[in-house]
Amino acid sequence: MTLPSYQGFRGFLNLLESTGKLVKVQKEVDTRFDVAAGIRKVSDARGPALLYENIRGYAGWKIAAGLFASRELLALALGVAERDAVRKYETLEEIKIPPETVASGPVQEVVQRGAEVDLRCLPIVVHSEMDAGPYVTIGVQTAADPETGIGNLGIHRMLVLGRNRLTLWAPPDHHLGRMIARAEERGKGLPVATIIGADPRIVIASQVKAPFGCDEMEIAGGMTGAPVPVVPCRTIPLKVPAGAEIVIEGITVPGERMNDGPFAEYTGCYSEAKQAPVLEVTAITMRRDAIYHTCLTGFPPTENHVLVELANVSRIRQDVQRVAPEVHDVCVTAAGCYRHHVVVSIRKRHEEEARNIILALLASGIGVKYVIVVDDDIDVNNPLEVEWAMSTRMQPDRDVIIIPRLACSTLDPSIPSPRTTAGWGVDATKPLNNASRFAKVRVPGVEDIDYI
Ligand code: MN
Repeated sequence: MTLPSYQGFRGFLNLLESTGKLVKVQKEVDTRFDVAAGIRKVSDARGPALLYENIRGYAGWKIAAGLFASRELLALALGVAERDAVRKYETLEEIKIPPETVASGPVQEVVQRGAEVDLRCLPIVVHSEMDAGPYVTIGVQTAADPETGIGNLGIHRMLVLGRNRLTLWAPPDHHLGRMIARAEERGKGLPVATIIGADPRIVIASQVKAPFGCDEMEIAGGMTGAPVPVVPCRTIPLKVPAGAEIVIEGITVPGERMNDGPFAEYTGCYSEAKQAPVLEVTAITMRRDAIYHTCLTGFPPTENHVLVELANVSRIRQDVQRVAPEVHDVCVTAAGCYRHHVVVSIRKRHEEEARNIILALLASGIGVKYVIVVDDDIDVNNPLEVEWAMSTRMQPDRDVIIIPRLACSTLDPSIPSPRTTAGWGVDATKPLNNASRFAKVRVPGVEDIDYI
């Protein structure tokens, strides 16, 4: 089933409104905590999305928030039914359509450059209690690799440092961080454009786990079925979506690092202040009636988790398939921050297959810390069934693997040193022989009961 299509960020807001999934808030709110509190509430309730229309100190501004507060909303953005969303993610990299340059676009109706630039004109939100300050949390950064010129999309948080300076939290193990490092090796800053209020397909494409050297803007085009119209930036050699709400143009300052943090992270804990690259803003361009867009991360689930969940599931499914072709289903659990804990169900072909899967996923380096493998009669999305498999098909001395010290991209506060974690796995599959001993008890005829 294909759902109604939409045009750009505003089209998506209209679609949300016409399907009853957008609440417009007239009550005056502050950028400090009020907006984020609303997102927290809709994240816990799994929607609706929010449009704040009365922002204290920012007359005329609106803030869109919680646009991806549930998998239902994400599926709407993808243009598919919720049950088809995982399948859709697995095919996102198959169709790529390069962007098309157009002469002008609404995103440049207003242009601030040089001394006119003032980030404080934007209603940038302070989200969680201990956050270091206002953070741009759902700006999609685009940049070009200094070596190949190939573009990239990613979402990296930015802390406002002043009128025209921001941190840009892009560690070197992320594509943008690698590009910053490559520019610095040449003694140069990296031009970076941050798109705020982008077509949701651009946001989703930026979170696909595509390899370095794939320009995710082409994936966004593939999702839309048409090239993304882009306009040249005013002060840097990059192109940005013509229909976006706001673009922050800037160049990183080579060698400079500033404290970024604390910041409430996807782990549900604060990350401590860390040294982050600095972006000097060369221009801000926007629509005359621009809508600011923000999102929340923090204690799972939040829209940040919703945005990465299916990308992680899709990547993990591919990793499992390499070692065990009969993968049935994959779940990255909510309490595992949609990243640390994975449940995989397989149609087992070899007695020790689950152990290969555990090792493959722990070795993938994407943040997996705990892998549970079950048979395909267990629903990976049902914690009761998963724990039942562990309690009836697993013996700890035989079926648990613990691997110390693995390189891993994670912000888990329990890790002993940066980018290092231990990993463990549980083989909760039943043995290939003696299946009847482990069969799930069922009572015939339950599905025919019609009197209750
Ligand atoms: Mn990339």
